[in-house]
Amino acid sequence: MRRAIVSEIAVPRAVAADEALAGRIVAAVRAAVGTAQGPVALHEPVFRGCEWDYVRSCLDDGWVSSVGAFVDRFEGVLADATGAAHVIATVNGTAALHLSLVALGVAPGDEVLVPGLSFVATANAVAHAGAVPHFVDVDADDLAVDPGRLAARLEAVARRQSGRLVNRETGRPITAVVVTHVMGWPADLAALRRVTDAWGLPVVEDAAEALGSRRDGRHAGTGGAVGTLSFNGNKIITTGGGGAVITDDGALADRARHRATTAKQPHPWRYDHDAVAWNYRLPNLNAALGVAQLEQLDGFLAAKRRLMDRYGAAFEEMAGVSLMAERPGITWNHWLVTLRLAADDAGLRDAVLAALHAAGLLARPVWTPLHTLAMYRDAPRDDMTATERLARQLICLPSGAALG
Ligand SMILES: *Cc1c(COP(=O)(O)O)cnc(C)c1O
Repeated sequence: MRRAIVSEIAVPRAVAADEALAGRIVAAVRAAVGTAQGPVALHEPVFRGCEWDYVRSCLDDGWVSSVGAFVDRFEGVLADATGAAHVIATVNGTAALHLSLVALGVAPGDEVLVPGLSFVATANAVAHAGAVPHFVDVDADDLAVDPGRLAARLEAVARRQSGRLVNRETGRPITAVVVTHVMGWPADLAALRRVTDAWGLPVVEDAAEALGSRRDGRHAGTGGAVGTLSFNGNKIITTGGGGAVITDDGALADRARHRATTAKQPHPWRYDHDAVAWNYRLPNLNAALGVAQLEQLDGFLAAKRRLMDRYGAAFEEMAGVSLMAERPGITWNHWLVTLRLAADDAGLRDAVLAALHAAGLLARPVWTPLHTLAMYRDAPRDDMTATERLARQLICLPSGAALG
């Protein structure tokens, strides 16, 4: 990762120096986002393509609900964009995660390994499946599940028992690993797969933020058993609300599609259902918006790269901070440009955020670590040092495509 120079010398800091750092960060962000007027949002959607035409055509034709030509088109274009053989569009990214876990066979009472550094939906989806999230730590550079730490954790707690993997401390079967591509930065799936394959564990990739990101040529979400995307209003493209399951596994795709449509048996008029299931399919109206948005994906990514270049220039000379930046083998969609305070300055995070907000620059911290949230406080976990340190250091900067 290209890094600005981080000051190595511990200098006693005066309050004035802290204010100076916050002031320099505000000035740099201002310089990067340019002449944007009024408050600058974290990530606003852009509608400059065929959105009105396509949505209007749904209303004209009457195809607004969970069947329709735009759903098929949207899934087809997403398959092309990601290289996944099968795509199932869903009502949102959380539903896509839930559906993926169920389609993989994750059952009530199982444990699923989940990163401590992710959006809450990642752990909630595991809980929705009746399973228990077991939190693991992340890599400080990739921000995703740390392959070495994952291997060590499995070595410490997992044992094989009559063909299953069981947590010897809790007695629960461990049946999957979820990996989040944090801020859209593509995780090292090759390294993670070396660990998970050795244990026979399937990987679910939470690629909600990672449309357009690749590592060594492979699109995020396509390196494990199944991946998920989100098209919420703040993501790379939006369908209002929406998500998708992406996979190369045809049988898994069939199970996911079936469970997403009330497990209804195909028949011209009969209502027969063979499992407890959900109404998780994306409506045609939302898919129409999505098709129009996907037509602009390359433009959005190019605009976000231009914005990243301006951030890079604005922060280049600044000591005490670094920016995540692409390097060979990594294509990053720049979902949220992410600033990292030096470890010594992590206590300044809230002062920096307050200064940015006061200047109308609506930056935000990364998520509160999942293992510290009230409902997951008692869940099993590894040592979470890196997750907790990153949560104090990371600041997400305004990153919408319109700014580029
Ligand atoms: C947005 C997001 C989700 C959930 O997607 P929704 O469409 O909002 O349900 C899940 N995981 C991560 C990492 C996300 O950023």
